[in-house]
Amino acid sequence: MAKARSPSLHATLSPSLAVETPPRLGDLRPGRRFESMNVPDLPQRQTLSFLMRRLREAGIQPRTQLGQNFLIDLNLLGLLAQTAELSPRDVVLEIGTGTGALTTLMAPQVAAVVTVELDPHLFRLAAEEIHGLANVRMLNLDALAGKHRFHPEVLQAVREALDVDPARRFKLVANLPYNVATPILTNLLALEAPPQSMTVTIQKEVADRIAARPGTKDYGALSVWVQSQCRVRWVRTMAPSVFWPRPKVSSAIVQIVLDEELRGRIPDRAFFHDFLRGLFLHRRKFLRSQLLTAARLLAPADRRDAVDKAVVDGLLASTDLCGEKRAEELDVTTLLALAEAVRARLAD
Ligand code: SAM
Repeated sequence: MAKARSPSLHATLSPSLAVETPPRLGDLRPGRRFESMNVPDLPQRQTLSFLMRRLREAGIQPRTQLGQNFLIDLNLLGLLAQTAELSPRDVVLEIGTGTGALTTLMAPQVAAVVTVELDPHLFRLAAEEIHGLANVRMLNLDALAGKHRFHPEVLQAVREALDVDPARRFKLVANLPYNVATPILTNLLALEAPPQSMTVTIQKEVADRIAARPGTKDYGALSVWVQSQCRVRWVRTMAPSVFWPRPKVSSAIVQIVLDEELRGRIPDRAFFHDFLRGLFLHRRKFLRSQLLTAARLLAPADRRDAVDKAVVDGLLASTDLCGEKRAEELDVTTLLALAEAVRARLAD
């Protein structure tokens, strides 16, 4: 006899997550719980025990090396979706479908969801939960085709969903896998048409780096790359206990909103990206030496030897910068000017 299937994970976790009864966004304000939506408040233990049972039945062990830490606080899951201000015009990319908890919460509120899951076992489990949601496209692959490249199939799926109607907008909403959160955010910002906003749960340490101000220990290439194109909003810091299995570190929900005006100040984004990577490679060194490394990395191979200390001193003089400073003391505007000076010099 065929084994009876468990009731749908998300219908059982909370009726608010069932597809037929999507939560009304207006009711989901930070700090308010699901009771405000006439939804019974399930004890967290029950949520956790259900999730554990469902995975056990499917013969799945969470693989922490793949960042499989599931958000078991449904209020925070709701806060993530609410912060994204989802609308029927949105095409949402979710990296890390997991069991589909966030996917099924978002799908009824948006035009389309493209959700990507690397783990084939979780992918199959999530497919059972997502089954019947016509506007969800599930992809079973690695979202990254390399350290610096998004998987083309993911981008193609997003493009197809956007092409349906020019009014559609691209957003990333995800509880990101820890191990690839940084390349996912960085590579999305390198696209010609990046998401309008990226509302994500990430490791707090990465969120600290994204939001860091000049002159602080966390300020570096990631801070500048994001802040040169976006406004960053810190939404919530989260303890390890809101995930199962518990990660060793805290997390945060942050929202990164694209600012076209800021973005328009960068004449060559690919160059600026590479420049930042080279400049912040050796944090302990002084600017003179950091700049030499960056300029050499960016110079065409046959002209690399021509980039010497004299060239760097000329660049510093032209931008009124002192070589004894450090790159991490410079704000975004100064770094942009410096990158432009290097670009012009290398183009000579
Ligand atoms: N969305 C679910 C939630 O909120 O509970 C699960 C999020 S869990 C933090 C991250 C998920 O990303 C895991 O299911 C993991 O298998 C998946 N994952 C890890 N690396 C990935 C990659 N490179 N591409 C796509 N999915 C990945």
